Amino acid sequence: MAEFDILIRGGTLTDGRVADIGTRGDRIAAVGDLAGSTAGRVIEAAGDLVSPPFVDPHFHLDATLSYGTPRINASGTLLEGIALWGELKAQATVEEMVDRALSYCDWAVSMGLLAIRSHVDTCDDALKGVEALLHVRDRVKPWLDLQLVAFPQDGFFRDPTAQANTIRALDMGVEVVGGIPHFERSMEEGRASVRALCEIAAERGLLVDMHCDETDDPLSRHIETLAFETQRLGLQGRVAGSHLTSMHSMDNYYVSKLLPLMAEAGLAAIPNPLINIVLQGRHDTYPKRRGLTRVKEMQAHGITVGWGQDCVRDPWYSLGTADMLDVAFMGLHVAQMTAPEEMRRCFEMVTVENARILHLEGYGLHEGALASLVVLDAGDPVEAIRLRPDRLAVIAKGRVVAEKARNDSRLALDGRPASVRRRHRPRAAG
Ligand SMILES: [Zn+2]
Repeated sequence: MAEFDILIRGGTLTDGRVADIGTRGDRIAAVGDLAGSTAGRVIEAAGDLVSPPFVDPHFHLDATLSYGTPRINASGTLLEGIALWGELKAQATVEEMVDRALSYCDWAVSMGLLAIRSHVDTCDDALKGVEALLHVRDRVKPWLDLQLVAFPQDGFFRDPTAQANTIRALDMGVEVVGGIPHFERSMEEGRASVRALCEIAAERGLLVDMHCDETDDPLSRHIETLAFETQRLGLQGRVAGSHLTSMHSMDNYYVSKLLPLMAEAGLAAIPNPLINIVLQGRHDTYPKRRGLTRVKEMQAHGITVGWGQDCVRDPWYSLGTADMLDVAFMGLHVAQMTAPEEMRRCFEMVTVENARILHLEGYGLHEGALASLVVLDAGDPVEAIRLRPDRLAVIAKGRVVAEKARNDSRLALDGRPASVRRRHRPRAAG
């Protein structure tokens, strides 16, 4: 009998080590020099990057792949997107939502994206999205970890039945508490919604992830209340603020007080650079604000920051491919994270840092971890962001779930190589 079920031979790990990885069942059984070992299946990864799977900490599976129905977002703003989603969800069926979400999960698997935190709209008396995504969560469980957030899209207080429906969604098995304080009727109601939702999470022992301050208004300061309530209720390390775009426009003195409070509360931040860069700044002429939160400054305070995808082909965003490297690429540019260690950090922000935010069990490429990984046609994490390359193999919980043949461009140029891969190692100095 073979020693391993799968042996990935000679891959370059994200820290630069070259190692073989052997899996048995759904776990990694060994990492190191496994020359001479036998395996049911061998994957040759010599020179290729082997990474733990990509993780998306912020997505909307109930809305994805609906672009154009019933119409297109003409202004490109968050608010028109919310109105458009309101029209769409009124006519959507559970079957159609399941269908779209499963299709997106297929895309995700093909890109090595094996864990997704998806918000699910709870402002619907029929809770169609909740029913659909609970079903999808079970369906994809053998290969993809789906974590659902009860998200009162139209406002926990602003929508007349959101409170009862959000509680019902949690009772049905949705596992994270969401919110949208900047969409409530007033700052005061926004604050009250943060307080009420954090109390629900504390009572039930759940994680919190709120859409927070997704606006260019520098006075949108619900993140302050989120940090305060996290402290008060002892939820440190269990709460994330998504977007936090208003921080881009806040007064520098105020932010200098805010960041230590966020760090003290153990808050995590989830900016969504593809969406933030297209939705924010829409009310500006010039100069036009980027609307991405203060990523490097938060990291300098020890705050965990993960890049999220948020939307693919929906009322808010017309593009997207389920590639977390697109997200890292955009984030790197907009946050100007161009130093070598900052670029490497951007890769960690779509892998290990997001896994930490989701509290994923068994994540990583060490003995005993889940046998979930991705082999990329790139030499290292920064090259992966630059190329956003093919995923040559994707393994989920001990099974090869996606494969793609290496696909170099063929050239027809006199006196030049016959093919090109665009991988590049800097020449050794001296
Ligand atoms: Zn969102």
